[in-house]
Amino acid sequence: MREQCPECEGQKGGTAIACPGARVIWVPCGLCAGDGCATPTRLDWWRRGKRCRQRRIAEEVTLRKAAQLMGISATEYSDRERGRADPEPLERFLDGIDHGH
Ligand SMILES: [Zn+2]
Repeated sequence: MREQCPECEGQKGGTAIACPGARVIWVPCGLCAGDGCATPTRLDWWRRGKRCRQRRIAEEVTLRKAAQLMGISATEYSDRERGRADPEPLERFLDGIDHGH
């Protein structure tokens, strides 16, 4: 079963302005990789990652700081937060922050 990608809403990507030259380029969607549909696993990651992002922002922790505290790169943290990888480690990290209050 495949659902319409919630990030691009089935548009498979979007346009962006590329420098230099201010050319308009097509950028494939990061969640579905230009497919327009997302697998249930990716959708689950995306939803949970989005929640992680909201929780991190609520805790006023920057992405870079959170990644540092977890011992992973900011890129990896961002990927997990954006549903490109399993956000499970982020959820555990955020649970730890909550309990610290
Ligand atoms: Zn998409």
